[in-house]
Amino acid sequence: MDALPKQSRDKKNGKLTVCVLASGSRGNAIYIGDGSTAILIDAGLSGVEIQRRMDQKALDPNHLDAILVSHEHSDHIQGVGVLSRRFGIPVYINKNTLQATGKTLGKLNQVVPFTCGYSFTVKSLAVHPFSISHDAEDPSGFTIGSNGYKVGVATDLGIVTGVVRNHLEGCNILIVEANHDPQMLIAGPYPWHLKQRIQGRSGHLSNEDTARLLEDLLHDDLSHVVLAHLSEENNTPEKARQSVVSLLNGSRVSVHVALQKTGSPLLVLE
Ligand SMILES: [Zn+2]
Ligand SMILES: [Zn+2]
Repeated sequence: MDALPKQSRDKKNGKLTVCVLASGSRGNAIYIGDGSTAILIDAGLSGVEIQRRMDQKALDPNHLDAILVSHEHSDHIQGVGVLSRRFGIPVYINKNTLQATGKTLGKLNQVVPFTCGYSFTVKSLAVHPFSISHDAEDPSGFTIGSNGYKVGVATDLGIVTGVVRNHLEGCNILIVEANHDPQMLIAGPYPWHLKQRIQGRSGHLSNEDTARLLEDLLHDDLSHVVLAHLSEENNTPEKARQSVVSLLNGSRVSVHVALQKTGSPLLVLE
């Protein structure tokens, strides 16, 4: 358990706090805060479960200034409506994604539309949403900047495009998908059409794809890599980690694997 009282952790004058609260096909949520502003990227667990996980990390949902939505799949939006209403949190979402959610979100506290490719701010956080290739209406990755630090988030993408690679350059923390081990996927229990969907251009990244991406993105100021959205059937945390360790050997990058049940540790840049 974390001994720090909520207030001191959330309002700490640290430069940037990042925590993957949950990751995988049964629910995703990422917390990012800089001491004066705090956001969630996606809220794909029940509202209660997200509150419980924030509480465990001494993060207070009352301090959230925004929920950013990456795309409309239920593992990214399940708790958005509830949290928005319960804590009066504005929801940042692009037009096509909002439309695609239908009635799922219910009445929101406030909707702030964004457009992929156009930067905006949430108080002290500089947000840049960028298009990714995934089987959703207008899916988005994000970079978040504050206090001279940059965090990049790209999960749920079938291929790494030039756009993705360019946007993720120069990050201090990278949260990237390592969805499956190709051999496990092929030999695994999924029906053929689902295997094809996952491997396709708008599916999910394999461990090898992720390793290649990280090879391009490695630089001296990269401190943490969080491997995310692992398939529970077609990957293991060991395989995901193994696929990038040799690459990152000799660098000072810490590698974390975000799990469905426990997320990632709290990462603090200061
Ligand atoms: Zn997902
Ligand atoms: Zn998805």
